[in-house]
Amino acid sequence: MRMRIGRQCTDAMLLCGMDAGQRFLCPGLGHASSVGDYMLERRRSVLVTGGAGFLGSHLCQKLLDQGNHVICADNFYTGTRDNLTSMMTNPRFEVLRHDVTFPLYVEVDEIYNLACPASPIHYQYDPVQTTKTSVHGAINMLGLAKRIRAKILQASTSEVYGDPDMHPQVEDYWGRVNPIGPRACYDEGKRCAETLFFDYRRQNGVSIKVARIFNTYGPRMAAYDGRVISNFIVQALTGQPITIYGDGLQTRSFCYVDDLIDGLIRLMETPDDVVGPINLGNPAEFTMLKLAEQVIELTGSRSEIRFMPLPTDDPRQRQPSITRARETLGWTPTMPLREGLLRTIAYFEDLVRNDIETRIAAE
Ligand code: NAD
Ligand code: UDP
Repeated sequence: MRMRIGRQCTDAMLLCGMDAGQRFLCPGLGHASSVGDYMLERRRSVLVTGGAGFLGSHLCQKLLDQGNHVICADNFYTGTRDNLTSMMTNPRFEVLRHDVTFPLYVEVDEIYNLACPASPIHYQYDPVQTTKTSVHGAINMLGLAKRIRAKILQASTSEVYGDPDMHPQVEDYWGRVNPIGPRACYDEGKRCAETLFFDYRRQNGVSIKVARIFNTYGPRMAAYDGRVISNFIVQALTGQPITIYGDGLQTRSFCYVDDLIDGLIRLMETPDDVVGPINLGNPAEFTMLKLAEQVIELTGSRSEIRFMPLPTDDPRQRQPSITRARETLGWTPTMPLREGLLRTIAYFEDLVRNDIETRIAAE
């Protein structure tokens, strides 16, 4: 631990320099302090697995903004270097190409374990690898946390509730998951990861946190990952039909990415006895029909709605109970769907425009 603090100081000294009174002048921290004070600063060294993905890249950015050292480990299966562009020149940021199904040796204070494809078409493309990522990934990251005595947070999911017969979903509900269906590689993989987290705590005293994340959206979602918000927005912006699966009366509750990242960091900062699982999501619940109408209105699109078959085991309804998050973390999402959609639409407008310009230039 001492060496880590020392290393941070060395890094900082390269950047900061000393004044005549032997005080740090630190641009990153925005203040001057004595060497001793600086040594005691609570700057952490943090590993984010899946850091090049949608949520991971926002988390890395927020942790850097707070002054931490961040290591992003990612195999770039669904994540991209484009998501990391704004961080690449930051001397407190490091990227490792690494697959979490293999062991990793780094020295950090905290681990956020986000590595895992999250969209159904991505996680069903190679289901065996998806299960391995959740299960072997959890074992490897928990083993690391145990060895270096780091706190570790698992990005679990509302999918552990499956197609729920309890509504809204509270954390004590054990769920209704089909263990042999096409979604099982993700759902059961995440459930097993939760089991491992709690067993490493009971057996080895590892300091764990488990967040059950509900559908989250925002800038940096991949354009063609098949998730409903990215699909609807790209379809609306490009004049393609909006594809509604089933009758469109199934529901989801959508959380804006900034709210979610705030919740994850709050959870990591709780004392050791707060372990979760804790639902993180926005309880405002919408049918997919309502969502389609809202996207069409906000984009001013003329796209028609096209009904398509409902995928197997698609949950009928989903809404988080966030009482535990409110009481334990003082956390409530603040971004209304309309405002969040407008920001996400602006992001996809840029992507679509760049895509068209690139194609024109290539012709
Ligand atoms: P994403 O697909 O954008 O990001 C996942 C990241 O993990 C990608 O960068 C990918 O390359 C990386 N990855 C995948 N397999 C890996 C492996 N074996 N080794 C190393 N890296 C690997 O998805 P996201 O939406 O950012 O989701 C991040 C995490 O949050 C996931 O664990 C997901 O299950 C969880 N989650 C997300 C949502 C959501 O709505 N976005 C909801 C519930 C849970
Ligand atoms: N969905 C849809 N049209 C699409 C993509 C998804 O109607 O083009 C539906 C999907 O069947 C599901 C909901 O939208 O009922 C949310 O799907 P998503 O893949 O975003 O998340 P998840 O099912 O994992 O919650």
